[in-house]
Amino acid sequence: MDHCNTSDLLSLEQALTKMLSQVTPMQATEVVPLTHAAGRITASAITSPIAVPPFANSAMDGYAVRCNELSSGLPLPVAGKAFAGAPFKATWPANTCIRIMTGAPIPAGADAVIMQEQAVISEQGVTFNGNVHIGQNTRLAGEDIEQGATVFPAGVKLGAAQLPLLASLGIAEVTVFRTLKVAIFSTGDELQPIGQPLGEGQIYDTNRFAVRLMLQQLGCQIIDLGVIRDDQLALRQAFEQADGVADLVISSGGVSVGEADYTKQMLEELGDIGFWKLAIKPGKPFAFGKLDHAWFCGLPGNPVSAALTFYQLVQPLIAKLSGHSEWHPPLRLKATAATKLKKSPGRLDFQRGIFSTDVNGELEVRTTGHQGSHIFSSFSQGNCFIVLEQERGSVAVGETVEIELFNSLLGG
Ligand code: AMP
Ligand code: MG
Repeated sequence: MDHCNTSDLLSLEQALTKMLSQVTPMQATEVVPLTHAAGRITASAITSPIAVPPFANSAMDGYAVRCNELSSGLPLPVAGKAFAGAPFKATWPANTCIRIMTGAPIPAGADAVIMQEQAVISEQGVTFNGNVHIGQNTRLAGEDIEQGATVFPAGVKLGAAQLPLLASLGIAEVTVFRTLKVAIFSTGDELQPIGQPLGEGQIYDTNRFAVRLMLQQLGCQIIDLGVIRDDQLALRQAFEQADGVADLVISSGGVSVGEADYTKQMLEELGDIGFWKLAIKPGKPFAFGKLDHAWFCGLPGNPVSAALTFYQLVQPLIAKLSGHSEWHPPLRLKATAATKLKKSPGRLDFQRGIFSTDVNGELEVRTTGHQGSHIFSSFSQGNCFIVLEQERGSVAVGETVEIELFNSLLGG
């Protein structure tokens, strides 16, 4: 692995390319019941075992007819009934109609269904108002999905938009990639887990909580090793333990240059790690590489930087490792700045913003306020990143900017 000269800034794309070019998707797969497949990723293409709908059926409550028997205008007696789940099976006499309900199989020979609102019922039978054309109100077999058609390719995440479709095909189990095992810990003597009182100089551990939540959303199996003190032996043990159980190890804190050089030193002994200074704001320091077994990401300590680097770099990395080849980066759109945005040229800025539509329905965006890398409330108030180009300076009201909508990882 190539190590970056720490005085060089690495662009986000360069960092992402370096990471993604090194890793390959996990190979292990398993078969799970559909009821346990939410959030899992298809390991092979899924084809439909049946046609959908499996048989031609009625789209309306009404009457099944043979259109050529309507020309006389005479009433057609009702010869029988067809219900969803209880087809009409008897012989169908000429010049009669069949009462039919939505979802009922179309009786053999019928070529249209006339909705009941167009029917006039008398003692002699049923006459119909309005135009009738062949095929009306009938749903054809295979109209939605043909038997044998590919429903999903490999690499699709199964959720509420996908699983009901598989259920409608009668598919009871799916082959999915094994879940990625991710070990996490935070480093820092000042960190206190939530639920404990704060001592002097202590702060609560935000990062492990944020990382946990995002990993849950990504469907990973989490091995939480807690807070590790700024102690070389404890850190080494944590890294070795994590490497022994996980596919990916994510730590936060201690990756800034000078602050904890021994962490860096130790990691260089344990694996092949690049310590990068990214040309993005927030989130300058970031480490990536390989331990003996597992991949490793070292997030910066400041909570906004940790969450942002996770979102921008670790999220696509996990998508690739997990076999989620259909993963797409969050949506970017153009919007008009409704507030001033402070920026100095030099780094790609991911400011937190609030987008909405103005009176004309056009997108506009406001800043969430203070953009410090320790101000986590900027995330909780925002619904998008305002992505300001590296060379750009401050933005005046009315200028066009690019926004990136928070995806479900950040509650979008
Ligand atoms: P470090 O990268 O360890 O120098 O940390 C940079 C800043 O982030 C310091 O102000 C730390 O106290 C803070 N920090 C580090 N880890 C966390 C964490 N898990 N939660 C909240 N703040 C943190
Ligand atoms: Mg620290």
